[in-house]
Amino acid sequence: MKDRAKAIWRRNVKRWLIGAGLEASAVATSAGLAKDARGFGAIFTLHHVRPETQPIIGPNRHLEITPEFLDAAIVELKALGYEFIPLSDVPARLAAPSGTPFAAFTLDDGYRNNADHALPVFARHDVPFTVFVAQGLAEHTQPLWWEIMGRLLRQQREVSFDFGQGEEKLELKTTVQKLDTFFRFASYVWSGDERETVGTLCRLAERYGIDPLGMTRELVMGPEELRQFAAHPLVSLGAHTVTHRKLARLSADEAAGEMGRSAEWLGQLTGTRPTMIAYPYGSKEAVGPREFAAARDLGFAIGVTTQPGTLTKADLSRPTALPRISLNGYYQKRRYVSALASGIPFSLKR
Ligand SMILES: [Zn+2]
Repeated sequence: MKDRAKAIWRRNVKRWLIGAGLEASAVATSAGLAKDARGFGAIFTLHHVRPETQPIIGPNRHLEITPEFLDAAIVELKALGYEFIPLSDVPARLAAPSGTPFAAFTLDDGYRNNADHALPVFARHDVPFTVFVAQGLAEHTQPLWWEIMGRLLRQQREVSFDFGQGEEKLELKTTVQKLDTFFRFASYVWSGDERETVGTLCRLAERYGIDPLGMTRELVMGPEELRQFAAHPLVSLGAHTVTHRKLARLSADEAAGEMGRSAEWLGQLTGTRPTMIAYPYGSKEAVGPREFAAARDLGFAIGVTTQPGTLTKADLSRPTALPRISLNGYYQKRRYVSALASGIPFSLKR
């Protein structure tokens, strides 16, 4: 219990620190001090883009922004002189920098709101973007455990679950209790075989009336929708594996199979084999040098993580290990966009 309280405290402090870093960077950016950390440009990561429908504080808050904030972010980057380029152009831009900073937009998981709410904003500003699609999610055979747990925690005031030491009653009356429980479920997912632990969480959700794959159908674009979506001139699709598990925890063969098969499937679906991949979760524990090399061997020209940073000349030699900056629900203020793009918050963190 004590350790858990500490973990929450650390998380909140970290979030606060990044926030404070953003405030400091916003000041530095407006004072014109940010040119160096900004590098050549930035790749932004988004997930859901949809109108505010849920309470501001939710366990998946970091995965969600509103169409209005996306619009404001683009306007802000334009005002700062950024040029919007497709992700596929990034290596060429790193090889021959133009002096103008670039921004490339990416969205992970293929949520239907990307077509309904993000595309109109991107189209209004003529901004190209890449959506990373996992085969199992698009075919609606794979559960989105974080969405399922988010819904369960929002709906219930108490649930019972066995984390391995007997059935526990988990109180969910306050936001802190809900967040705490969410992060316990998240560590449970990676405490064993991801497929099994996720299966156990799905059965828990079913006991409370939630249909796990029904949520995938509700939230993620299916194959036919993706084909139509990909036909839009501003849209590119990239691979995001088959089952959306942390690749670094799988065997080398399994990890490479996840990457290769998803590219093949997407190639058959759209007629173009993707040359870009986003590694699921994208953190240091989720992906490493083994996957970066495998991606290269499988013919991917670009691989993106979720490890934060702006792009520099050094990234030219590691195109399958590029950093991205998350545009997320915790920081939906226009001046934070320039601060994030400046790279300063990440240099402060290191
Ligand atoms: Zn993902």
